[in-house]
Amino acid sequence: MSDLHKPPLDAEDRRAVAPVICYPNETLPVPQIDLYRSARATAQKVDEVLVPPRDACSFRVPAGQFFRISSVEGSQVGDLNLWNANNLSERFYSGKTRALHGTHITTGERMWTAFPYLRPMATITEDTLGWYGIDAFGGSVHDVIGTRCDPYTGNLLAGSQYHYCCHSNLTRALADATGMSLAEAEPFVHDVLNVFMCTGFTRDTGQYFMKASPVRPGDYLEFFAEIDLLGALSACPGGDCSSEHSSDTAACYPLKVEVFAPADGALDGWQSPEPNGYDQSHGR
Ligand SMILES: [Zn+2]
Repeated sequence: MSDLHKPPLDAEDRRAVAPVICYPNETLPVPQIDLYRSARATAQKVDEVLVPPRDACSFRVPAGQFFRISSVEGSQVGDLNLWNANNLSERFYSGKTRALHGTHITTGERMWTAFPYLRPMATITEDTLGWYGIDAFGGSVHDVIGTRCDPYTGNLLAGSQYHYCCHSNLTRALADATGMSLAEAEPFVHDVLNVFMCTGFTRDTGQYFMKASPVRPGDYLEFFAEIDLLGALSACPGGDCSSEHSSDTAACYPLKVEVFAPADGALDGWQSPEPNGYDQSHGR
């Protein structure tokens, strides 16, 4: 080890420096949760899809409506992609959502869209797993730290050809929803919200871990659509993600998606958010 790489004499002092939050989020626009809740109380179900195990389905939610993802039959995690239904290049931005809200999201927090839009696309209004908090391993539920299980990583690590990873499931669902070919649809598939998945990073090695999801049939996560949404949800081949994914080994169950429309006038005073106000001149 060269001298340059030896810990300095003040190494412990440097490690002891207190962290600061990268993006203090007190100035984020606050969702009108009370208005959303009163509107939700007037809402009627207008659509329902059942996502088969190891497959994905698409759904559409106009701005101002709600959608609920429910566990049915057994413990199962879901990989969620969201797009602006009118412009697929405006899609969920997992990394910035993580930077703004943290590694896992729950009631009152939002899914944000990619640059140059960077606006809320969906707000979580109900989370029956909100009680879970952060466990002794540093794990929590509904993460924006994972990517989505995919056949490329499986091929890289194990030489496999598996076709029912969430990435492929979402690609097929988007192609079916839009009429695009698989090759056209694939680049629009993006890092997901891992619905019901329990994950974290190990404290000793910093590795991404998963553990059996605490979700049980009847649990749900509900969202308010801030803009017109096209969604796709994959019932992950990992099932409850207690052991492995990227294979047909784990027990898998369906997931239910329901869409609810509030009564006319129930959202008076609410407006769909505008795209981000940065002028995009980038210094020129
Ligand atoms: Zn998956």
